[in-house]
Amino acid sequence: MPGEPGAGAAPSWDRVPAARAPEDPPLVGRMGEPLVKVVGGRTAALLEEKLGLRTVGDLLRHYPRDRRRRGQLTDLRSLETDEHVTVLARVASLKSRPMKQKSGFIADVTVTDGAAELRLAFFPRGRGPLALLHRQLAVGATALFSGKVSQYRGVTQLVHPQYELLGAGGRAARDVGPTDALPGTGPAPAPVEPDPGEALAAVDAYVNGVVPIYAAAAGVQSWTVARAVRLVLDGLAPEDVPDPLPAEVVEQHVFPSLHEALRRVHSTEVGAGEEAALERLRYEEAFVLQAELARRRLRTDAETAVPRPPREDGLRAAFDARLPFTLTEGQQRVGEQLAADLARPHPMNRLLQGEVGSGKTVVALRAMLAVVDAGGQAALLAPTEVLAAQHHRTLERMLGDLAGGGTLGAAEGATRVVLLTGSLGARARREAMLAAASGEAGIVVGTHALLEEKVQLAELGLVVVDEQHRFGVEQRDRLRAKASAVPHLLVMTATPIPRTVAMTSFGDLETSVLRELPAGRSPIATHVVPTGKETWVERMFARLREEVDAGHQVYVVCPSIGDEDALASGVDTPEARRTDTTADGRVLTSAVRAELLLRQVPALADVRRALLHGRLAPDDKDAVMQAFSRGEVDVLVSTTVVEVGVDVPEATAMVVLDADRFGISQLHQLRGRVGRGGHPGTCFLVTQLPAGHPGVARLQEVAATTDGFALAQLDVETRGEGDVLGARQSGVRSSLRLLRVVRDVEVIEAARADASRVVAADPDLRHHPALAGAIGELLRPQHEDFLERA
Ligand code: ADP
Ligand code: MG
Repeated sequence: MPGEPGAGAAPSWDRVPAARAPEDPPLVGRMGEPLVKVVGGRTAALLEEKLGLRTVGDLLRHYPRDRRRRGQLTDLRSLETDEHVTVLARVASLKSRPMKQKSGFIADVTVTDGAAELRLAFFPRGRGPLALLHRQLAVGATALFSGKVSQYRGVTQLVHPQYELLGAGGRAARDVGPTDALPGTGPAPAPVEPDPGEALAAVDAYVNGVVPIYAAAAGVQSWTVARAVRLVLDGLAPEDVPDPLPAEVVEQHVFPSLHEALRRVHSTEVGAGEEAALERLRYEEAFVLQAELARRRLRTDAETAVPRPPREDGLRAAFDARLPFTLTEGQQRVGEQLAADLARPHPMNRLLQGEVGSGKTVVALRAMLAVVDAGGQAALLAPTEVLAAQHHRTLERMLGDLAGGGTLGAAEGATRVVLLTGSLGARARREAMLAAASGEAGIVVGTHALLEEKVQLAELGLVVVDEQHRFGVEQRDRLRAKASAVPHLLVMTATPIPRTVAMTSFGDLETSVLRELPAGRSPIATHVVPTGKETWVERMFARLREEVDAGHQVYVVCPSIGDEDALASGVDTPEARRTDTTADGRVLTSAVRAELLLRQVPALADVRRALLHGRLAPDDKDAVMQAFSRGEVDVLVSTTVVEVGVDVPEATAMVVLDADRFGISQLHQLRGRVGRGGHPGTCFLVTQLPAGHPGVARLQEVAATTDGFALAQLDVETRGEGDVLGARQSGVRSSLRLLRVVRDVEVIEAARADASRVVAADPDLRHHPALAGAIGELLRPQHEDFLERA
């Protein structure tokens, strides 16, 4: 979202006044003070450039990653390649020799944590620096080493790490000074100038107690951060640090104040009470976020919308009467919830979570018809053109003559469903826009591009966002601009979300859940197929052949598109490899490659194949998809464009190639494409990974259950919620530093209840300026994508 809230042509905050006017400086005491005033220009510049820390608050919220007691070494097995790390370790050996090609030396240091080892490579320029290295890194010396983790011939190493000795001698020494360029890597980065004060402080801390270890980066070491933190904290009085938590909340939970908590987490003393401090800071993160979500809920409640109560004699009733199946209990229940929401004079703001294949489309369609019955229009937004086109076809088919509005032989009171996508021709497009603007089209189906366009809807009453959970405030605002009143909103997720993730990421939406699948579905059988087992692979191809012979269809899904040009000359050219090779040297099976390979499989040589991927023109994509759903294509080789929503009932088998490249929820979503039409579905997860690899274990988990909610939980646990929530993983700040939405269920629940109470009593936060300031901080552009996902 560009700019601050309230800036720009379409203010997000125009309905209810913000807690503070956007032009006010943030009310954060000295927390908002630029670091340059406190720690000096050079350090301040480095902290900002390397770690994104600009203010006193930024620095103090850069909590230590780890606190090490004397003699507590870092677990060296936990290091991840390419990460910048700071480890506390002991020197186990040091060997050096002159370099063969150049002047200078190679020194090979091995450090240990007592169990695992790590290699450090140094390239001292001359005998002087080499001798210094031998003196400082003598066997048994303990030091903090800081650098980027790399792999060299299967050995984990740090190349020319910065280090800080933590000997018992009380004298700190620093690194060996400028080094030569590493062979073939250009000039080495300039080493940080020695700063004896800093070094001594670190040694003191080590000898007397705890070494806080901070996320650092090349050029800014953990100990540089530590010293800056000390400087800042020493000059800070309690009143400089206003507490965003209201006094009664602090009292109720018996928390330390913010000032006290910050002192404790950065403390270098043993037994500083940092556990209680962390608990408070974790709660605070949840509280500030929940306070903002509570304000958004209040704001929605304060808005007015046109009520659209259901009618007994309208299109919805006619549609229900001719449904070819009975609604599941869940579909009925959610249908009633939606009808009740739509009948209120406030905008509905609801998230529908559903198991893959649980029948969300029908639920949405019934709500849309209710709105049409009440004189409004509905818009259905899909994430892709393929899906939008499919929805358009499905709605027309399901509605039959109920959608024949404006044509001869239409049912009484019939409406029209129009498709509005970027790939429409100019005439069709103009026609659809006109139908939308005049109100003749009761239902408009499109992609998100619909929001960008100058489409006007005469009487937009409901917006349904399908298979997507990223629908931000800004997008909602654009919707408002399209209609005379705030429309009702229904967001349908692509995959189930664990409850606390929903409470955090989507906390300003009401939630409905569809767990059960329609009756008569046979569960999808999933098999993991290692490429090493040739008989398994052959059996899989034979199975696919049987499905095709039975008149069914097969998806083959690949992790990438592949390079047509490179592959045109042959299946396995070096160019084709280049684009599809993983870090560990596996050649991935791109869609283009897979299509070529399948031609050579005897069992499938004569089936009708087609290729579908994102580089095709929209019209071509749609043509392929339609041919597949009409049964004119037996095997569809595609990328994840079929991941969400695609519904072809005759498709019964799916092969996912290099399945280990996909996320757990993504695989669940993918296989949800088969077994929809009452025929049993089969899914093959093909992998090149060896048996026993964690990636294979993950695939087996997916094969073992068809419960999407359980898999979603597993997904956040294994992938880390950063990926799931889109929060930044780097050392640079992100909005949630301590809170873990999977683990901290109780914290989130307590904070939600407390925050709702505080905000209800003081919606403008007039009596809670520090909280308003903290919310403003949360909404700063670099944090926003987090909330914007709601
Ligand atoms: P999803 O929730 O994954 O979006 P869809 O809405 O695409 O699922 O529905 C999947 C399929 O199930 C569609 O073919 C739809 O017509 C069918 N379906 C939906 N509800 C029922 C029901 N109550 N009984 C039988 N089939 C149903
Ligand atoms: Mg769907």
